[in-house]
Amino acid sequence: MKKIVWLFVIACLVVVSGCQQQKTNAVDQQVEEHGKPCVLSFINVGKGDAFLIDVPDDGYYLCDTGKEQDFATIARVLALKNINHINGIFLSHGHLDHAGNVENLLKNYTVDKIYISNQEDPSYRKFPIREIVSRYDVELVELQSNQHLQFHDLGIDVWIPPYVDKKNENNNSVVLKMRYGNHSILMTGDMELEEEATFLFENKDIQSDILKLGHHGEKDATSIALLERVKPKYGIITGNAKENPQSVNKTIKKRLEQFQVNAFYSEGNQLCTEFISTKNRMKIRYFYDQHVDSDVRIEELNIDEDYVLLKNNGTQTVNISNYHLRSKKGEEWFTIPEETMIKPNQELYIKTLDCDEDVQPYILWKEKDVWDDDLKEAVVLYDKNYARIDKKEGVKKDE
Ligand SMILES: [Zn+2]
Repeated sequence: MKKIVWLFVIACLVVVSGCQQQKTNAVDQQVEEHGKPCVLSFINVGKGDAFLIDVPDDGYYLCDTGKEQDFATIARVLALKNINHINGIFLSHGHLDHAGNVENLLKNYTVDKIYISNQEDPSYRKFPIREIVSRYDVELVELQSNQHLQFHDLGIDVWIPPYVDKKNENNNSVVLKMRYGNHSILMTGDMELEEEATFLFENKDIQSDILKLGHHGEKDATSIALLERVKPKYGIITGNAKENPQSVNKTIKKRLEQFQVNAFYSEGNQLCTEFISTKNRMKIRYFYDQHVDSDVRIEELNIDEDYVLLKNNGTQTVNISNYHLRSKKGEEWFTIPEETMIKPNQELYIKTLDCDEDVQPYILWKEKDVWDDDLKEAVVLYDKNYARIDKKEGVKKDE
């Protein structure tokens, strides 16, 4: 009897612990059958577009780069996937919720090419892409409408509207239809109804399994006519109720239900939602962060005196080389120099040029104006792989 009970307990444990494993195994099994899959990672950056595409036997591509404050999330995804080199970055247009991290990416990774529209897109007036790119060793490619690109087995059809919309910059978004085996996805940037109409008029083959909805799923995009032609099974909405209530409006939600489109929003605590294609089969899974423990903590952020105080609360010396500090509101980054160690109970100041205090020992964060004095500033500490370790809100000494 006892034996039967134990067998039952063991069987239950196997079922429970197997749940998480099951998804991965199913993917692994398919990998064995069909080779390495093509993975589209919808990075969870709230209102902003950032997608990573892992192309088998080719490399990694990004479609848009999110807002500047999303850099840590994108860098974390790249670190967990061991990516140091990016083959190409496609920009739908130059708005900062799409192109916000071009410079951060060029600073921290080797990038071969950046792909932009060949039209005089007015969204690049405030974001001088050519000037930024000229400072780095990267090729700027101007995409042409109806151009076809082939990255090993991934084919990309490019479409760009023939006329520049000067009033509504969103309507100059580059549209990409990507095909891998039997699967396809339509990336639309911030395309709104006017651009959609031209697109529908010009293009015949736009049916796609996945539709990245235009303009963050707001009501001014994703017409019934578009859904009728694209016939997507899955819809990706780069927005959520908290950050942009327009992204979860009833009209589009109802429309997606009507067309039986399974909708994915940038909400929840996953790092990415991944669409994994083995050419004839598609799997969807969530990719989560891994928890990292560290004994190094932020003791204090002093806004008036312009310093951050770190302390090792553990019993072992910690190597904090290449750890990162970020001023949350000022949006400045600092990477801790090589061979920086903190012994147990030791404190270390990271000060800026504005700091007049005689604090020891310290490392100089060379920037001035790191902290935003007017807003509620905070500092965030990340390890060398962009795992978030600690956060502290700023205090003013006279408070
Ligand atoms: Zn946008």
